[in-house]
Amino acid sequence: MTDTSFPPEAPYDCARCDRLLSFLIEQRQAHADWYNGPVSSFGDDSAQVLIVGLAPGMQGANRTGRPFTGDWAGDLLYGTLAKFGFSNDRFDARPDDGLELYNCMITNAVRCLPPQNKPVAAEIHNCNPYLTARINALPRLSAIVTLGRIAHEATLTALGEKKSARKFAHGAQHEVGKYALYNSYHCSRYNTNTGRLTTEMFESVFENLKANL
Ligand code: URA
Repeated sequence: MTDTSFPPEAPYDCARCDRLLSFLIEQRQAHADWYNGPVSSFGDDSAQVLIVGLAPGMQGANRTGRPFTGDWAGDLLYGTLAKFGFSNDRFDARPDDGLELYNCMITNAVRCLPPQNKPVAAEIHNCNPYLTARINALPRLSAIVTLGRIAHEATLTALGEKKSARKFAHGAQHEVGKYALYNSYHCSRYNTNTGRLTTEMFESVFENLKANL
């Protein structure tokens, strides 16, 4: 049952996941000048498009406090958003770069930095009410781009849909209630370095999205 009392953003002192909180406390001790907390969604409150990533990267979103900012993955994501008219193209690896998103918001399936970039199932579950609340707080939302299988499955759960009903595949599109879900491989360094995801493959997801918006 979805808890409708959740806010769309986790408070800085969120303590729903013991392991993630301990890891953040370690980071706070090691890097006092980093953000080291649950990273809030970023973008346009009247967006039609929500992009769901996995979780903050250690030296990226966890350091800067903004999704995909300072992360390798952000270069491709923010570059693509600019190309398709979803931003003012002022992306830099710092949150005070002047970047604005248009008609688009970015969030993560898990808001806190996970060790080895791998949240466990219980953490994805614990964080899911925030994703539901984020989706519900966007009145014009019609399209959700899910970056990777975990983000896709977390989004299905957030929407009250069975995971088995809609298999993740790069380039796939799923209709779930009033939302169109667009699947992409995650724009991670690993996926781009190995050629699993090319710039062309990533852009084709946004071409499809734009054509249907
Ligand atoms: N940074 C994020 O905020 N999310 C990701 O999924 C990867 C990097």
